Amino acid sequence: SARQVNIAIIGAGGVGKCFLSQLESLAARRQNQKLVLTYIATSKKAVYSDSYSPIALDSVVSTLSSSSQAPLALPKLVDYLAASGTKTVLVDNTSSQDIADAYPSFLRRGISIVTPNKKAFSGSYKLWQDIFAAKEEGGSLLYHEASCGAGLPVISTIKDLVETGDEVTKIEGVFSGTMSFLFNSFAPTSGSGGGKWSAEVAKAKELGYTEPDPRDDLNGLDVARKLTILARYAGLEVESPTSFPVQSLIPKQLESVASGDEFLARLPEFDAEMEEVKAEAQKEGKVVRFVGSIDVASKQVKVGLEKFDLSHPIAALKGSDNIISFYTKRYGSNPLIIQGAGAGGDVTAMGVTSDLLKVLAQL
Ligand code: NAD
Repeated sequence: SARQVNIAIIGAGGVGKCFLSQLESLAARRQNQKLVLTYIATSKKAVYSDSYSPIALDSVVSTLSSSSQAPLALPKLVDYLAASGTKTVLVDNTSSQDIADAYPSFLRRGISIVTPNKKAFSGSYKLWQDIFAAKEEGGSLLYHEASCGAGLPVISTIKDLVETGDEVTKIEGVFSGTMSFLFNSFAPTSGSGGGKWSAEVAKAKELGYTEPDPRDDLNGLDVARKLTILARYAGLEVESPTSFPVQSLIPKQLESVASGDEFLARLPEFDAEMEEVKAEAQKEGKVVRFVGSIDVASKQVKVGLEKFDLSHPIAALKGSDNIISFYTKRYGSNPLIIQGAGAGGDVTAMGVTSDLLKVLAQL
C-alpha cells in the first residue's frame, strides 16, 4: 500500500496558489506515496484538525477563505506536525522572517522544509549555521531552490559544482527581474529607444514588475540576499546581506519620502544623474547593468552598477530575465551560464514543487 506523507503549507499568495495547483496534479499522479495536506495557513486564517484529516486539494483555496480557524503559533505548529507520527514536509510560501527563524525547531523535530523564502538563508550567519545543525540533528531534509532565481536551477547547480569538487572562482549575474527589465529598457544595446529613468521606473511599476513601493526593488537588498546565499554555498562566511557593498538606486533625498507614489513623483528630479551614468558607458561603447558578483579568492561580494561590452551575455539579456554565470576551475574561462525568467508564480512554484519531489524521493 502507498506510504503516507503529510504536507503542511504556510502562505497562499501568488506563488502559494500556483504551488497548490501543482501539488494537486502531483498528488493525483503519485503512485507509491499518498500525499495528504494536513495544515494550511495564511497570515490570517488556517485549516487543520486534531485528527489530521486530509484537506481536499481541489477546493482548498475556498475552504481556506471561508475558514474561521486562526493559524497556530509557530511553536504549537511544530508540536502539532511532529505529533502526527507521519513523515511531514513543511512548505513555506511566505517571505516571513519569523517563520524562517523557526526552521531550526521544525528541522530538529524531523520535519523537512521546502521554500522559496530567502530570509532563512540570507539572514544572520548564526541562523544559517543553526539551520544546518538542526537538519543534521533531526535527520530532516531542506531545499530552497526558488530562493534564488525562482525556477532556474541556481542553488542545485552551485551545490553540484561544490559537492563534486569543482572550485567556484567567481559568480556574476543579474539577479533581479525588476532591475533586468529597468536596465534593458533604459539602456538597450541598440543604443536608441531608452526612455528617461523615472519614466522607465513608472512603466515597470505599471506593468507589475516592481514591488508596490519601487524603492523595495531599487535598494538592492533583494539582490544582496541572493548573493549572500550563493556566497555561503561558495564557501564564504558572509555575515549578513548588509555586510558587503550594496549600491542603492534610491537617491538619498528620496529615502525617507512617505509613499511610493511620492517617490515616483519626485524621481524625475534625478533623471540627469542616471542619464550621465548611461552616457559615460556609451562613450566606452558599453551599457550599464545592475549586477551582483562574488569573487571567491578575494572574498569580495558586491552589488551595483557595472558597464558591459555590447557582446557580453549580461548586456544582451532580454525582458525581465535573470542571468547567472558560474566561473569555475573546470569550466575555465567560459562560464556555466543559467538564464531565463527569474520571477513569476508558476516558475517559482515549479522550483518549490521540484524541491518537494527531491524530498519525497528520500522519505
Ligand atoms: P505573496 O505576498 O503573494 O504571498 C505571501 C503569502 O504568505 C500570503 O498568503 C500571506 O498571507 C502569507 N504570509 C505572510 N506572512 C505570513 C505569516 N507570518 N504566517 C502565515 N502566513 C503568512 O508573496 P509571493 O509572491 O507568493 O511570494 C512568496 C515567496 O516566494 C516569497 O518568499 C518570495 O520572495 C518568493 N519568491 C517569489 C517570486 C515571485 O515571482 N513572486 C519569485 C521568487 C521567490
